[in-house]
Amino acid sequence: MTNLGNSFKIAVFEGDGIGPEITRPTMDILKFASSNYDGFSLDFEILPAGAGHYRDTGTALPKESMDRARAADAILLSAIGLPDVRYEDGTEIRPQVDLRFDLGLYAGVRPVKVFPGANCPLSDPRAKDIDFVLVRESTEGLFAHMHDGKVVDDQYATETLRITRDTSEKLFDFSFFLAQQRASEKGRPGKVTCVDKANIFRSFWFFRSIFEERAKFFPDVAADAAYVDAMAMWMVQRPWEFDVLVTENMFGDILSDLGAGIMGSLGLAPSADIGDDHAVFQPCHGSAPDIAGQGIANPLAMILSAGMMLTWLGHQNASQQMIDCGQSIDDAVTRVLAQKKGLTRDLGGQLRTEECAIAVLDAFQSDGSEGTREAS
Ligand code: NAD
Repeated sequence: MTNLGNSFKIAVFEGDGIGPEITRPTMDILKFASSNYDGFSLDFEILPAGAGHYRDTGTALPKESMDRARAADAILLSAIGLPDVRYEDGTEIRPQVDLRFDLGLYAGVRPVKVFPGANCPLSDPRAKDIDFVLVRESTEGLFAHMHDGKVVDDQYATETLRITRDTSEKLFDFSFFLAQQRASEKGRPGKVTCVDKANIFRSFWFFRSIFEERAKFFPDVAADAAYVDAMAMWMVQRPWEFDVLVTENMFGDILSDLGAGIMGSLGLAPSADIGDDHAVFQPCHGSAPDIAGQGIANPLAMILSAGMMLTWLGHQNASQQMIDCGQSIDDAVTRVLAQKKGLTRDLGGQLRTEECAIAVLDAFQSDGSEGTREAS
């Protein structure tokens, strides 16, 4: 970490496809939001990486970019990847996944909540109460040996799933601490649900047994477990009952898109990948090549991820100003959606990316804040 005084270095990867289109207005909003608070400033450094960079240079994540990201206080990452840019083995380039491994970002935090006015596809009136967090383990599971998958004699293929005690303990402790924090903020008891496939696989029985061991250290938080297939159904039938769900990497990858679907659009789903010393903040969605370059992408997931970054930095540095600033971004997006003002096409509106970002800036002003409101 390079934090000098109260200036925080933010490494920014603009990414591919719609990545740069949603990153620029997000940085404008971060600058505006932070200017409303004393005691800290943000210093952005844009770093090259991604599928386009790989196509142009043969390198997806240059060492210099990695070193500078490692030295930053936080990393803001837009969507990365282009379906037609691939390694020789046929898989896509994925520096966003490599970053998680290199920086030990074991806790993938995916909040799922239904904003007022969002197009939640569930008609049950309780859908407005959906507010849970999916914690996706992000450094092992079925992704642990992603470079070593084999196709043998064109007859069969194998991949290896790995669960370690060390990472699982940290993952579960993180999830219980998160449930405690949410319980204190919301004034109700917390609960963590372990999502696995412990009925079939020994690796998941191991995963669940470690979960039960760690749960004993958090007697104030309720703990239970569910099989992932049942959880996929319950996330549709009664998602308002969950608080914190914790799961393996591949299951979390799939369930988090289901969560985004519940929220009404991938364009509303933010995320954080958090480790002991570093954290990356990025939208759940990909680079959306089908709409790239048209200026119609929804920037809100990226903006909400930036808000999560400020909140995380605030907790790391005991700065209530930063925590409040992060919350102010969440609040501004909530107002925009509630008033159905900044809606892009994926949300049923007609606004362009920059118009949506300007609506968010306006929403700060409607809260009494002052400042410019230009989004590039
Ligand atoms: P995607 O998330 O890019 O797109 C899925 C659908 O959602 C598309 O119709 C797209 O137009 C829409 N969409 C996504 N984000 C949107 C937004 N902000 N506003 C409006 N609409 C939005 O998924 P995909 O098409 O499967 O993947 C495209 C590329 O992105 C691939 O190369 C993939 O590997 C990569 N990818 C990257 C990440 C990441 O960086 N974390 C995650 C998923 C996919």
